[in-house]
Amino acid sequence: MRTTKFLSGEQVPVLGQGTWYMGEDAGRRQDEIAALQFGLDSGMTLIDTAEAYGGGAAEELLGEALSGRRDDVFLVNKVMPHNASRAGTVKACEQSLRRLGTDRIDLYLLHWRGNVPLAETLEAFEHLQRLGKIRHWGVSNFDVADMEELAGLTGGPAVATDQVLYNLTRRGIEYDLLPWCAERAIPIMAYSPLEQNRLLGKPQLQAVADRHGATPAQIALAWVLRGDGVIAIPKAGTRDHVEQNRRALDVVLSTGDLAALDQAFPPPARKRALEMI
Ligand code: NDP
Repeated sequence: MRTTKFLSGEQVPVLGQGTWYMGEDAGRRQDEIAALQFGLDSGMTLIDTAEAYGGGAAEELLGEALSGRRDDVFLVNKVMPHNASRAGTVKACEQSLRRLGTDRIDLYLLHWRGNVPLAETLEAFEHLQRLGKIRHWGVSNFDVADMEELAGLTGGPAVATDQVLYNLTRRGIEYDLLPWCAERAIPIMAYSPLEQNRLLGKPQLQAVADRHGATPAQIALAWVLRGDGVIAIPKAGTRDHVEQNRRALDVVLSTGDLAALDQAFPPPARKRALEMI
């Protein structure tokens, strides 16, 4: 498995797994647990979740999937902005740990920016680090101005990642946020790399997939992972999808493929405000 490094020196796989909408449909539960476990067996050991997903249902399902194998995973979790005060962050973290059935989160992110001053959330993250309840901290849905502000705070430059929307149809970050992070050796975490399925029917993507004997999902993931400093976290609720996604790392896109994809899904020519899902 290809890996990338956080500023702390910790290495993680570039291909992880998402969990949004997992644990919300009883009929899919066993397939979702099996999919996550198969992903772990396949080396996709970074798993992303959030207290927001299903009001804790995704964390509970993940806790079940990780039972007896907590040490196999690099666990990423997120606190909601309205909980991100000094005391609220600690309380939210403790509740998440209970639902996950673990004693620590490897990387704890502020889900998006809210009204609590960043310095206060940062103080809570540092407190949780001292308690051993989280190992690293980061942010999500932060545009360049937010990252600049964060970097100016005491302790701010320790931010491990910015988890943001990035896929062929959402390329705005290439203009400024991606280079900003690359200059500082901060890997970004690309969420919704398949645009929640909406990308997969695009004929231009299918054409590249046909050339490789691959699926559109594999090409979409190979594209997100074409450079360094990007971690992709597709959510797959079936073993078959996980297996396909894992094999995306075997796809090497040619300069011709990249040019065809650029033509169909042009890179940004100017600043665009960061998009969110
Ligand atoms: P994705 O782009 O990962 O798409 C998920 C959809 O793609 C599901 O419907 C899944 O179906 C399908 N899929 C997965 N693999 C394949 C495949 N090989 N072939 C066909 N279909 C496939 O969307 P998400 O929004 O879920 O993003 C991924 C993760 O990122 C989330 O789960 C979450 O952890 C995180 N996230 C973070 C956000 C933030 O604000 N920080 C916002 C949004 C997401 P199936 O389930 O049937 O496999």
